[in-house]
Amino acid sequence: MSEQNGSTEPPIPGTAVARRPAPVVRCRRCHRPLRNPESRWEKLGRHCADAPAPTRVYVIDQDHLPGT
Ligand SMILES: [Zn+2]
Repeated sequence: MSEQNGSTEPPIPGTAVARRPAPVVRCRRCHRPLRNPESRWEKLGRHCADAPAPTRVYVIDQDHLPGT
């Protein structure tokens, strides 16, 4: 049983890939730098993700109760 050695060595974890600083991802709404991984993935900060899309709020006069 012959085993080939020396030709292909598996990369040692931690040395092959150099850790490079993550690029700055900014919120697509407010353009603030995001630190949260999930926020960076969605390019949307939590502060903006929680907020609903800006929609016009129509203030409708409520019907006056009869007699007032
Ligand atoms: Zn934002």
